[in-house]
Amino acid sequence: MDTMKTLFLNPPSYEGFDGGAGARYQARREIRSFWYPTWLAQPAALIPDSKLIDAPANDLTVEETLKRAKGRELAILHTSTPSFDNDVRFAQALKDQNPNIKVGLVGAHVAVLPEESLKASAAVDFVAREEFDFTILDVARGKPLADIPGLSYRKNGAVSHNPDRELIGDMDSLPSVIDVYKRDLTIENYYIGYLKHPYVSLYTGRGCPARCTFCLWPQTVGGHVYRTKSAKKVISEMARAAELFPQVKEFFFDDDTFTADLARAAEIAKGLGRLGLTWSCNARANVPYEYLKTFRDNGLRLLLVGYESGNQQILNNIKKGIRLDIAREFTRNCRKLGITIHGTFILGLPGENRETIEESIRYACDLDVDTIQVSLAAPYPGTELYRQAMANKWFDENALVRNDGTQACTLEYRHLTGEDIAAGVKRFYSRFYFRPRPIGRMILQMARDPHERRRRLREGMEFLSYLKKRTKQASSPAPQTVPA
Ligand code: SF4
Repeated sequence: MDTMKTLFLNPPSYEGFDGGAGARYQARREIRSFWYPTWLAQPAALIPDSKLIDAPANDLTVEETLKRAKGRELAILHTSTPSFDNDVRFAQALKDQNPNIKVGLVGAHVAVLPEESLKASAAVDFVAREEFDFTILDVARGKPLADIPGLSYRKNGAVSHNPDRELIGDMDSLPSVIDVYKRDLTIENYYIGYLKHPYVSLYTGRGCPARCTFCLWPQTVGGHVYRTKSAKKVISEMARAAELFPQVKEFFFDDDTFTADLARAAEIAKGLGRLGLTWSCNARANVPYEYLKTFRDNGLRLLLVGYESGNQQILNNIKKGIRLDIAREFTRNCRKLGITIHGTFILGLPGENRETIEESIRYACDLDVDTIQVSLAAPYPGTELYRQAMANKWFDENALVRNDGTQACTLEYRHLTGEDIAAGVKRFYSRFYFRPRPIGRMILQMARDPHERRRRLREGMEFLSYLKKRTKQASSPAPQTVPA
């Protein structure tokens, strides 16, 4: 069946801005890093002759991106709450260049706010809510907009919302994104500090059974049932990935929680072991020892673990569903097995105070995971945290990112200001990393591997400049608007 000449686009934004759907916190990074635009690559894989452009990861300017968009009939822009204004301006530029191009927006922001998103600009013809893969395929095939589930669009000057689209039940019906990566992306442009370079990341399933109140994807696009591709299909996709990208040092499964179905994860692990691949994934801090061992024996190198807080009450407040003692045991087991952990923490969640910030810092140092990431609590529209924050007036809606695209502190409490929380993040990083053990680990790694040495030095410089900038920002008020 004929399809429109379709462009999938991560629009140009702030320098170093990672707004792709793979980025759970859309912001300019402290250290240059980008996730793969997997959510755009997926519908691109369904539409022959489509094109995927990831402007931020490729440092493409507005002019260059517009040039590359010439000749396209349909443009699908992935947008996010912090980048929305910029993305809409880019949609207008596309229309100015070619008034006949159809422009659609996708992503969690428009899934939650379809009406407002369409009203924001006449340049946007439609938005695709929920999971948008087959919605976009329908549009590209020229199906009348009124007949496409999951679509909101402009009709006679008003906004019309079609019925919801059901979540995809048969994940094996989705083709592999690997061929799109090969065709359209330069994989060397994708960095994540704790993953080996070059890496490739992809999903083997969507949705997460957990109910963490701050977490964007399961509450907006992916849902709370972990829907998966079969182990057989995943293993054959990975065999093809290894063939197409022999230079890749590590594959990352970006499923919200790859370990949510342990039996399946173990079956996939054994297949990856037979292929001799090194791999990593997201995991909750409660995977039993015997599974960790099976994973490790079959190529698992690293787990990305959301610990969030060292205070049990805060974990309960955000419905994390994890006990601190279980998380400690899990971490000890990983260490015993030689599995590397990148631990993620959030400051400023409901219940936070000066003492709980200190508790979290001590907890992270005790766990002594290999690397950490500390984020500011970010209440994205569509999440329970957002609703709570609005109801309790903890939140200045216009302050998700600063004028330079870095993440700003968005939650404030009577007893804890945004500046206190931002200062806590800086203290957290400094106290964790400026200890003999992490410094020793880094020196050892750098001594063993010259590639690692160059990279760590570059990241170290970027990180120090981030700390310096944060200090300056903490002493001046944060700008309240996204730049024009
Ligand atoms: S376990 Fe992770 S992916 Fe699942 S809801 Fe919680 S934070 Fe989100």
